[in-house]
Amino acid sequence: MEILKNNERSQIKSRTGVEYYKVSPGVWGMKIVFVNIYIVASDTGQDGSWVLIDAGLKGSADRIIKMAEDIFGKGARPSSIILTHGHFDHVGAVKELLKVWTVPVYAHYLELPYLKGISSYPPPDPMVGGGLMSLLSFTFPKKASDLGVRVRRIAANGIVPDLPDWQLIHTPGHSPGQIALFRESDRTLISADAFVTTKQESVFSVMTQKHVLSGPPKYFTIDWDAAKSSVQKLLALNPLVAASGHGYPMYGEELSLSLNYLVNNFEKEAVPKYGRYVKEPARANKNGVQYVPKRVNNPELIAATAIIAALTAIAIIYRLNGRKPIKNQLSVSYLAKKILNPVKAILQPS
Ligand SMILES: [Zn+2]
Ligand SMILES: [Zn+2]
Repeated sequence: MEILKNNERSQIKSRTGVEYYKVSPGVWGMKIVFVNIYIVASDTGQDGSWVLIDAGLKGSADRIIKMAEDIFGKGARPSSIILTHGHFDHVGAVKELLKVWTVPVYAHYLELPYLKGISSYPPPDPMVGGGLMSLLSFTFPKKASDLGVRVRRIAANGIVPDLPDWQLIHTPGHSPGQIALFRESDRTLISADAFVTTKQESVFSVMTQKHVLSGPPKYFTIDWDAAKSSVQKLLALNPLVAASGHGYPMYGEELSLSLNYLVNNFEKEAVPKYGRYVKEPARANKNGVQYVPKRVNNPELIAATAIIAALTAIAIIYRLNGRKPIKNQLSVSYLAKKILNPVKAILQPS
């Protein structure tokens, strides 16, 4: 059994110029800006059949097709597309891909309302802290995609279509019908956003792909009790390889220690201090969202934002008055740097 160690993730540059990486035998991943897609060969890929897991951001179909053709040859097409969940950054290229590939798209039945244009997701929560990604999350699309008739309900019995070696695990919390995929033979886990391997709330972390196991992206997670049970389920599988929706794969001891730590310290490490879904979850069923709790303010975040706004205003007034800033200390860029560093520290709790 070939188990890749941390930092042995092999980056592959294809003949067509796209970069992707090997996760474990028959599993490859590609980072599309800040989210991952995976290609999984069926049954060790002997017959050349394979499945696409998730579809990244809108406009990335070309890159996904190039990656597939680099692995399986010109004209390669999957047996199916499996969506771990329907968030905009995991389904973006599905429609473009379906123009090229006539294949079914599978998702858990509790995720179908958001893939068939029936229900919007509960609104993302910009008050959860952790960085600029959270703060900007109010702009993230929550509207249902309508992928039409090709979307099918995945059987809820643990069997994954077209991937006989894999089992399906329902991991709600981040979204109602999120699923993870697990291959027992080498304990490879595709965890989706049940846990991720970077701090997805922070733009800095996302840009540098800081390698750290974290709970589900806070701004989109709508049920923290369910999210905790889901990571407990995944820990019980004792994975040796974890490939998540965000961040590079994590392996071996680093994975087991970090996942154990996350589960045992879930309230401190994963659940935000403030947030509309912290005290009460959003509720959803097969028809989509049924109840969304009221918004909650984050006083620390509001105070930090007010200080930035006030200091920026002072700097602008100085500029407009035509005063020369004393030793440049009131220049906008100087202030921005001085203010943003501590604010960044506040927003990125260690
Ligand atoms: Zn998500
Ligand atoms: Zn995600």
